[in-house]
Amino acid sequence: MNTVAIPRVAIVGGGFAGIAVALRLLRQAPMALHIDLIEPAATPGLGVAYGTPLAQHLINGVSKAISLFEEEPAHFTGWLARQVRAGAWAPPPGVAIEDSLPPRRLYGAYLQQTWAEETARLRPGLSLEHVRARAVGLRATAHGYAVSLADGRQRLADKVVLATGLMQRRADQLPFALGDAARRSPRYVADQWAGGAWHEVARDRRIVYLGAGLSALDGLISAEHAGFRGEHMAISRTGLGVNERRMPEPWPDFLHIPDGGLTLRQLLRQVHPQLRAMAAQRQDWQRIVPTLRLQVDTLWARASVQERARFVRKLRSWWDVALHRSAPEALAWQTRVKAGGRYRHAAGTLLAVDTLADGRLAVRWRARGSDAVQTLEADRVVNCLGFAFDWTQSHDPLARDVLARGLALPDPLGFGLQANRADCALLDAGGRPQPGLHAVGHPLRGVFWESNAVTEHVPQATKVARSLIAQLARPAAHAHEDRAGAAAPVAAG
Ligand SMILES: Cc1cc2nc3c(=O)[nH]c(=O)nc-3n(C[C@H](O)[C@H](O)[C@H](O)COP(=O)(O)OP(=O)(O)OC[C@H]3O[C@@H](n4cnc5c(N)ncnc54)[C@H](O)[C@@H]3O)c2cc1C
Repeated sequence: MNTVAIPRVAIVGGGFAGIAVALRLLRQAPMALHIDLIEPAATPGLGVAYGTPLAQHLINGVSKAISLFEEEPAHFTGWLARQVRAGAWAPPPGVAIEDSLPPRRLYGAYLQQTWAEETARLRPGLSLEHVRARAVGLRATAHGYAVSLADGRQRLADKVVLATGLMQRRADQLPFALGDAARRSPRYVADQWAGGAWHEVARDRRIVYLGAGLSALDGLISAEHAGFRGEHMAISRTGLGVNERRMPEPWPDFLHIPDGGLTLRQLLRQVHPQLRAMAAQRQDWQRIVPTLRLQVDTLWARASVQERARFVRKLRSWWDVALHRSAPEALAWQTRVKAGGRYRHAAGTLLAVDTLADGRLAVRWRARGSDAVQTLEADRVVNCLGFAFDWTQSHDPLARDVLARGLALPDPLGFGLQANRADCALLDAGGRPQPGLHAVGHPLRGVFWESNAVTEHVPQATKVARSLIAQLARPAAHAHEDRAGAAAPVAAG
């Protein structure tokens, strides 16, 4: 029996974040290494965001910022330039490729092609398997971890990375009452990116969107593209809509953040005069967004839990719409529909969604500042309220197992899991970092606050891979026997 073990890393989740870690390990690991990419989907890298088939769903960040590789910042724009030369796509007139916001499906094609190329020519000693299964459990073993799979097998690994992405909200966690019949109705769209969500939408007369952000804009574009010509009605708590992404010069840095951090009130005392100065000078307010974005990490790291909670309560909605803006060409769909008198957006509180006798849906809601309950009849209701982050409320078997076994410490505000900022190693239930169990992306929302986009996932992947390589390069005190039987069937859980 071979006793020189090849280290094994299991990456749970093969969306963008998962493949970013895998590619980094494959490029940089100096030692022999096996990677299991545990992902049920046939095509790694796409996830919800880049799996859309519609060319009209656009990336919301500039091309020059979304290379898969930090050390090759022009990796994506170079690929895109080749697509342009081949006639596969063209940026809008007057927009440079570097500043363009291309279709998400094109970015998905870039991820697929890069993945295929980088995994087709592995250096000797490196191996990778795409394990087409869902992970349902994780436990620590004497030498590492065991990941249980939904099909009853398990994978042993020295190190594990959780890259599980966005979590759908549970029906019982919605901020309104969803009747059983409405929940089962094909007219209630819980996941607009799932196949069949827009079936026969051209026959509908009114669509109600619960929420009015980027997801609702995706929905409007999907519906119009499928031939819908009726009324779009969005209801959101704040009444804030989607902003077009402009790219003015960043406003000069002005924030002073002491070691002890800033309270929300102190932060606003620094921000408000700048906004007033910008308005006086007729400057685009979007100039302040990149200036503040650069400081979010420090602001969040130094803020107390109370101040973070205050930010989430009072400013989150405003910050989200200021930061997460739409490509102008995508927002133009909404502008056109609005100009034709077919788009309404109201601020209010959602109360309930039920079925009507004819099978359509009724949305009960209260407009902001009014006590009157209104009922809106809809042919289709699309949930655009965003995703869930609270692992303690999740029904996902893996999330439940990880917490039940004390392998992770939930964020006190319900934004994922606590981790070391330096290498994204998860803290265990006792608050101790666990080198060897890391996370990337959405599960780290509470650690970095902004942990939602490619621009955040790439540097996190670098940190995690660097840490794993350093750990694996240490003398193999924990070297264990050949794991030829690593995929042996065992009971899950
Ligand atoms: C509609 C939409 C548009 C977006 N547009 C942009 C954009 O333009 N630019 C940008 O930077 N960001 C965008 N984002 C944010 C996006 O989430 C990130 O950019 C990135 O794609 C997230 O990658 P991820 O791997 O963390 O998550 P996901 O893409 O959600 O992938 C997670 C993967 O983990 C798998 N998984 C989950 N649980 C398990 C388990 N237990 N076992 C095995 N596998 C599991 C899932 O199958 C999935 O494939 C968008 C998000 C959405 C929803």
